[in-house]
Amino acid sequence: MTTPASDQLAPIVVIGGGFAGLSTALAFRHVHPRPPVVLIEPRERFVFVPLLYELLSGELQGWEVAPTYASLLQGRGISHVQDHVKSIDLKARTLQTASAQTLNYSQLVIATGAQPADFGIQGVHEHALRFHTLSDLAPLRQCLQQVTLRPSGSSTLVIAGAGATGVELACKLFDMLDGAAAIQLVELGEQILPRSRAFNREQAQRALEKRGITVRLNTRVDAVSPTSVNLHGPEGAVTLAHDGLIWTAGSRPKIPDLSPAVTLQGGRLPVTSALRLESHPEVMVLGDIAIHASHDEASHWPLSAQAAIQQGQFAAKGLQAHLNGGDPEPFIFRDLGEMLSLGIGDASLTGLGITLAGPLAFKLRRLTYLTRLPGLSLGLKAAGAWLVSP
Ligand SMILES: Cc1cc2nc3c(=O)[nH]c(=O)nc-3n(C[C@H](O)[C@H](O)[C@H](O)COP(=O)(O)OP(=O)(O)OC[C@H]3O[C@@H](n4cnc5c(N)ncnc54)[C@H](O)[C@@H]3O)c2cc1C
Repeated sequence: MTTPASDQLAPIVVIGGGFAGLSTALAFRHVHPRPPVVLIEPRERFVFVPLLYELLSGELQGWEVAPTYASLLQGRGISHVQDHVKSIDLKARTLQTASAQTLNYSQLVIATGAQPADFGIQGVHEHALRFHTLSDLAPLRQCLQQVTLRPSGSSTLVIAGAGATGVELACKLFDMLDGAAAIQLVELGEQILPRSRAFNREQAQRALEKRGITVRLNTRVDAVSPTSVNLHGPEGAVTLAHDGLIWTAGSRPKIPDLSPAVTLQGGRLPVTSALRLESHPEVMVLGDIAIHASHDEASHWPLSAQAAIQQGQFAAKGLQAHLNGGDPEPFIFRDLGEMLSLGIGDASLTGLGITLAGPLAFKLRRLTYLTRLPGLSLGLKAAGAWLVSP
């Protein structure tokens, strides 16, 4: 009996077990038993970040929103290497990890995501809280705990950035604290949610107004200290005392060192419409670190979990097409809409012909996300836990 060629291949290596990387590994392995798939991801748990607000507020539990990779990958024939990739030698088709392991690959998927960026603003790195991943929750909870110990109305929380994360967090924090702290939302641009649909923006505006959250537009953060923040806005320079400043105002791609270097476009790795590096078609790049190598902005994919999951599913087919020597298809992003969490029990959503706000939108948003958790059995388990909860 002859051994299929794919049996003899070096593994397919996926770097980063976020939305894009995990979807790729699961979708590829679901259909193709070979070659081996290795997922390199330093974290122990996958985090479903769109539901991080509900984890913070206690509306959902850790096992629902942040399952371990061990549970997600169990019995699926994917090896999880809990390590951090430092560098990739594109010519030799090898990579080096932080613990000095060297791995070779037949095809590579890079999906290392983004991390908060402070743009070098004084004091942000040292004094601001973050809301990006699981480890950010404990310091934030501690800050909220301190606020609840003070007389109601005597504390101020400042959130920098009125994109989706800042707006959603502002509403959730207000509800969690039951109005015990004043919340100030600071935005450099001239409107909140610049990339959102008009319907969602209007609903968010209402949700902020209803809670008395102050929104400062056209306002720049100049410096942050442990107890104050220097702002510059339409009324000039202002110093605001704070009891906690949460930074949601920017992120930047997190790309391992590549040799030979690839010229970045807007800080991201430019890829073909098949999500491949032009110079190395055996390398796919997905999610928040990828940009379509076209200067036409209309062809750029959104930086979202939705796009990352679709790219992961596309990549699984692309890996197989490459094994078979087939021509790669172009990736086409399908916009399924946008959902915003607007406080406890409230949300707004638009997409696929639906515009909905209020408690029903909240339930639909949660159900949609929970059933999309990678690994169907877990998704159903999570959805079930919610459906039976009061
Ligand atoms: C608070 C918050 C709420 C959000 N809400 C929504 C939402 O409601 N809807 C939506 O569509 N999008 C939302 N997003 C955006 C969405 O989460 C990202 O666009 C999406 O996660 C990008 O997927 P990714 O796979 O590219 O990266 P990620 O999901 O960030 O995954 C990257 C993974 O790579 C790993 N990694 C990084 N560097 C290395 C390395 N060198 N070696 C090995 N592994 C590495 C990381 O540990 C991480 O697990 C939200 C983001 C945040 C922060």
